[in-house]
Amino acid sequence: MPLRLKPGLVWGPAYADLVQNCKEGGYALPAVNVVGTHSANAVMEAAARNRSDVIVQLSNGGARFFAGQGLADAHTAMVLGAVSAARHVALLAEHYWICAVLHTDHANRKLIPWVRDLVAHSEASVAAGGRPLFSSHMLDLSEEPIADNLDACETMLTRMAKVGIALEMELGVTGGEEDGVGHDLDAIDNAKLYTQPEDVLAAYDRLAPLGRFSVAASFGNVHGVYKPGNVKLRPEILKASQDLVARTHGLPANPLDLVFHGGSGSDVADIHAAISYGVFKMNIDTDTQFAFAEAVGRYAADNHAAFIHQIDPDSGKPYKSVYDPRKWLREGETGMVDRLTRAFEELGAAGKSAAAA
Ligand SMILES: [Zn+2]
Repeated sequence: MPLRLKPGLVWGPAYADLVQNCKEGGYALPAVNVVGTHSANAVMEAAARNRSDVIVQLSNGGARFFAGQGLADAHTAMVLGAVSAARHVALLAEHYWICAVLHTDHANRKLIPWVRDLVAHSEASVAAGGRPLFSSHMLDLSEEPIADNLDACETMLTRMAKVGIALEMELGVTGGEEDGVGHDLDAIDNAKLYTQPEDVLAAYDRLAPLGRFSVAASFGNVHGVYKPGNVKLRPEILKASQDLVARTHGLPANPLDLVFHGGSGSDVADIHAAISYGVFKMNIDTDTQFAFAEAVGRYAADNHAAFIHQIDPDSGKPYKSVYDPRKWLREGETGMVDRLTRAFEELGAAGKSAAAA
């Protein structure tokens, strides 16, 4: 019996079912960073066109941008921008007829107040008879000692589970830089680039009894896109963690929900291997940013005159219909939809939407 869910925001038990469906069905969902309604709508359009569900993701910087750069207080902007984005997506996803997971990206120690305030918004919504705003939030304390990482995750998951929100945590470090929360590749001890199975087991023991949680695991992945050859992915690293947890607790294969950060620019073979080891979510940001920019850039180059004159200086014809933002922003959206179509195919998610007809 295939999984059937109500279209729209997926959270709580439905989120758990969706994650399980991905792992059992051998596919993963792209988690796409958005910074405004244009990118959010492009993600929903791409999911609908590919008959897939999708994860809409906000970094703290993306959330702040969503609220508008003119909002002076950075903390207020990153909280309300995320709230605004979550409401926008939750309102429209059901009309795109897709299941949408809403998630916030990396939050280190300094950003815990951001996550806490978002959880408070969800608690208020649930207390008023509604649903949480987000399906899951990430804490990334991978730079800290594991005991501190797990303590903070335990506190946060205990609170979030009460309102049906899941946690994503990071063990081992993802290299590269993303929104000021990242790691300088040269400065990291090589062993930390690969998640240690004993750490994953410790996380499972602490967090599994509390609520649904996923692990951003490091297997040589790096944020951003670099020259080929700079990054050597070893997805088989993930298997060691899955096997240790399964063996210790007598569980079936792939008990952990794993997340692949730094998915942009990855080989399809590595993506497929990662999915076979229990990855249900692959983050994609750099490649969709480029797809948006490339399409806008091409349009602006092809219509250069309309970006410097309101009226054609020779013919006197108005350029209004060319510089109308709906024209060039639409090019960006379309570029993003096309890039995501490839992602849905590579992740095996195309045609798998759980949204009930
Ligand atoms: Zn990441």
